[in-house]
Amino acid sequence: MVAFTHPSIKDGWFREISSQWPGQAMTLKVNRILHVEKSQYQDVLVFESETFGNVLVLDGVIQVTERDEFSYQEMIAHIPLASHPNPKRVLVIGGGDGGVVREVLKHESVEEVVLCDIDEVDIRVSKQYLPYMLSLLTSLRVTVFVGDGFKFLADNKSTYDVIITDSSDPVGPAQALFEMPYFQLLYNALTPGGHISTQAECLWIHLNLINELRKNTKKIFPTVEYAYTTIPTYPSGQIGFIVAAKAEGRDLTTPLRDVKPTKYWNKEVHKASFVLPEFATVMMREG
Ligand code: SAM
Repeated sequence: MVAFTHPSIKDGWFREISSQWPGQAMTLKVNRILHVEKSQYQDVLVFESETFGNVLVLDGVIQVTERDEFSYQEMIAHIPLASHPNPKRVLVIGGGDGGVVREVLKHESVEEVVLCDIDEVDIRVSKQYLPYMLSLLTSLRVTVFVGDGFKFLADNKSTYDVIITDSSDPVGPAQALFEMPYFQLLYNALTPGGHISTQAECLWIHLNLINELRKNTKKIFPTVEYAYTTIPTYPSGQIGFIVAAKAEGRDLTTPLRDVKPTKYWNKEVHKASFVLPEFATVMMREG
């Protein structure tokens, strides 16, 4: 058996040190390292933690832990889907671990889900070490495509009712997924009443980035909101989403249906997730 080592793990503790969150780092106690691999795009690490189950790490940054993944996967999926009148065709960009697809399939109106992740290694490794996340990728409603989300969108116009961008952070292969041309491609790939949600970072650390994203998205989409969820293993325990609609006046904050089963999302949490703390409201008003 191969005894793995990884530079982010020292003395039995994983440390998430990154210039993206200067001066702070999440640490998790490691039981054992399960997998280390360098893919064409990123450094891939999976370890079994003492208290958060198996953990997927890309380029030194935690992507998913078995214990708290549901809060992120449910919210990024159910906010745009439950507020859409009749979502049938859904595209997930990134999300190779399969958790967002699992949530999308809880919507009975959905006939087809396409997953487009740039890295086959993430899909393979998640299948092996996060099997609960990937079990629904075998559904007949799901098609998996390995490739760059940016390029995939450019080839698909007016096709999807909802597009969810479950990307890693804006460094490396996901950088283009946070820039204006990508949001224009998202707009073009939506059907007329379509919705998007995209991973949009943390209020405590990335307020300027969020504000830029929100302003840029507003240049393209008539309806734009920021919603957030709480999650212990993402930096500062919080992460948000830019949620936008192609139709003017669409109310993204009110779910039109219930979704079952869930562990984090419910109709009240959906509405409350758009209510921001004062420091964020002021910044967004002034910015
Ligand atoms: N839930 C996580 C978070 O917010 O930190 C993200 C999880 S998911 C594993 C991120 C995925 O985005 C990875 O599997 C990565 O391969 C994929 N990805 C990064 N850049 C991409 C691109 N340009 N096109 C498609 N997928 C991309």
